[in-house]
Amino acid sequence: MPSVQDGRASRIREKLRLGKLPRAFPSGPRPGIDVNPPSVRLVSGPAEVCAGCDEVIHAGERRWEFEYDATLRVRFHETCERVWEDALGLDQGE
Ligand SMILES: [Zn+2]
Repeated sequence: MPSVQDGRASRIREKLRLGKLPRAFPSGPRPGIDVNPPSVRLVSGPAEVCAGCDEVIHAGERRWEFEYDATLRVRFHETCERVWEDALGLDQGE
């Protein structure tokens, strides 16, 4: 039975395949494992669109923000960030 979570996961993997999402974190340690680099933040703020699922991150809701450079910032729901991170791990099979 497909869940909402599965739908988001397949959307995020599809975006990765199409090159519409970054395929790596900004340089620095991985969030949640070590001290987050300043380019990775768990923040709250105004309503924005999630880069993963394209749904709204509501105002005041916490979201992961990845800053790659001055013009590229990617924001995810907390759940979508985990899916994205998992997908990156799966992608690195060598
Ligand atoms: Zn999302």
